[in-house]
Amino acid sequence: MESTIRRISKSVFAIIGPEGATNFTIIKGANGSAVLIDADIRRIDEVEEALRLTGCAGVSYLIDTHEHFDHTSANFYFAQKQIPIVASGGCVQAMKDDGAADFARMLKPVPELYQRFPGLCLRLPDVEFSSTTQIKVPGVTLDLVYRAENGHSHSKGDTTIYFHEEEVFIAGDLLYTEVHPVTFFGNIPNWLTALKPLMDYRYHQLIPGHGPAVEGEQSGRAYFKRMHDYLEDFYGRLVEIDSGRISREEVARHMQSGDYAELGKTRMVERNINQFLTGRWF
Ligand SMILES: [Zn+2]
Repeated sequence: MESTIRRISKSVFAIIGPEGATNFTIIKGANGSAVLIDADIRRIDEVEEALRLTGCAGVSYLIDTHEHFDHTSANFYFAQKQIPIVASGGCVQAMKDDGAADFARMLKPVPELYQRFPGLCLRLPDVEFSSTTQIKVPGVTLDLVYRAENGHSHSKGDTTIYFHEEEVFIAGDLLYTEVHPVTFFGNIPNWLTALKPLMDYRYHQLIPGHGPAVEGEQSGRAYFKRMHDYLEDFYGRLVEIDSGRISREEVARHMQSGDYAELGKTRMVERNINQFLTGRWF
C-alpha cells in the first residue's frame, strides 16, 4: 500500500499514510516554499517526492505536532538543511526526557538508515513556544495552539494548527479517523478534556494525525465526537478490567465490534489494553 497525496485546498496537500500510517501536511506559500507539518525519516522519500510533485521550491519551516517518532524523526534531515523546526515547549521537553531512547528503539528494525544518513540522531526543535504562536510565510498564516491538557493528552506536546486563509485545521494525533488510536503514551482523561473545545472549532477542511482527511465542519465535528466517545468508552472499560468486573478479552471484543467494527489498525486494541494493564500508565 502506498500513501496518497490529497489536495485539501488551493495550497494544502496532505500525504495520507496507507492503512492509518502517519499523515504529513504540506502548505505551499505564495513564494513556492513549503511549511511542512510532521515528517518521519523512514518515509523521507515519500515526503521529498510529495514536495517535488506539488512543485515546492523548498521548505521554510518544519512543524512537529508532537514528540512521537513517526512525527519528528526527520528533524535531523531538515535541520541539516538549516530549516527551522517549530514545536511546543511540552514537545521539546518530552523529547529531551525520552526522545533519545525512543529514537534508538524505533530505528532498531531499520539500521540501514544510519548508513544512509550519517550521524542520524534525535534532533530537538529549535523554535519553541509555550501556549500559542503564529507562523507567517507569503499567503499563509498559521496559528499553533498547544493543547496537551495538563501537559499530557495523546502526548505531552499536542499542538493543533489552523491555516487562516484557506480554513484548514490540522489536528495532529488528538484525532484519528477510521482507525483505532494509539492511547498508550497518553492520558485518556486529559485527552477527553482536550477534545471538548475541538468539537466547536470552525474550518472547511480537517486533517487528522492518522486516517483520511475530512471535508466540512459538520463531518469534522462528528469525527471529534466519535473520537471522544471511543476514548470515554474504552477508558471506562479499562477501569473495569482493573477492578476485575470484566475480562480483557471482553474489552478487546467490544472495541472491535458494533460502532468500532469498521475501524482499521485493529492490532492497536490489544496493545492499548496490554499497556494499560502492565502499568506503563501515565
Ligand atoms: Zn502520536
